[in-house]
Amino acid sequence: MNSNPFDLAGRTALVTGASSGIGARLASVLAGAGARVVLGARRKAELEALAAGIVARGGAARAVALDVTDEASVIAAYDEAERVFGPVDTIVANAGIAVEGRATDLPVAEFDRLMAVNLRGVFLTVREGAKRLIANGSKEKENGRIVIISSITAKKAFRSSAVYAASKAGASMLGKSLALDWARLGVNVNMILPGYIATDLTSRLFTAPAGKELLESFPRRRLARESDLDGALLFLCSDAARRVTGAEIVIDDGQSL
Ligand code: NAD
Repeated sequence: MNSNPFDLAGRTALVTGASSGIGARLASVLAGAGARVVLGARRKAELEALAAGIVARGGAARAVALDVTDEASVIAAYDEAERVFGPVDTIVANAGIAVEGRATDLPVAEFDRLMAVNLRGVFLTVREGAKRLIANGSKEKENGRIVIISSITAKKAFRSSAVYAASKAGASMLGKSLALDWARLGVNVNMILPGYIATDLTSRLFTAPAGKELLESFPRRRLARESDLDGALLFLCSDAARRVTGAEIVIDDGQSL
């Protein structure tokens, strides 16, 4: 028996939206725990640099061009991952975007753009991953691990984030429902719900007066950090979580209390 239940040696992970912020951090954490990691996003140059950093630290990483809104691109990314590292057993559906402004001012094209990444993109990513896991015998191996990066906005209403929140609530419920559908097929689906973290996604929000007011309203008056998600991710991707599926883990420093 492996004495470290969070050891990911022998696993192959695909992380979407790995070119910056939370995705870049999570990919590097998985690699540090021994997984072979495929980094997917649209910005290939950033991904190549991150993959090179992981390899320089002794890990195994590959950058693949990926647009999660495009089914053919999702399929091609899994094909490349399999060609390089073999079947993917760990999927982190992290790619996501935000739109700004009041709902009354929001062009419908922005609504569609956000849903295409945050909901359709998650669906395409996890569906393709699960299809391949099931075809590769996950039912017997019980080795499928899917983690969806949702948000505390899936649970609590915040000002001016209706469409983003709806996409995240949708992604969470998609994950819970698929956890049920795939429960007897060896594929666990869990959600991490981060609180507000300083990344490219939120940088403008917290320099504006409304963002500063929001920050002051948090119990600890501070943002969470990307590294706060490390432990939950390792747990959910590991053998320790073999009987954890359909769970939502909130990591927000109390922001949603
Ligand atoms: P970020 O902007 O730094 O990262 C988003 C990543 O998604 C980038 O790598 C971007 O290139 C990628 N991406 C966007 N559209 C894509 C597409 N069509 N195909 C492939 N990749 C695409 O932001 P982040 O804060 O690191 O966000 C990562 C995830 O965490 C998102 O799902 C976001 O909703 C979620 N989240 C963020 C916060 C926060 O406060 N930062 C809080 C809760 C949840």
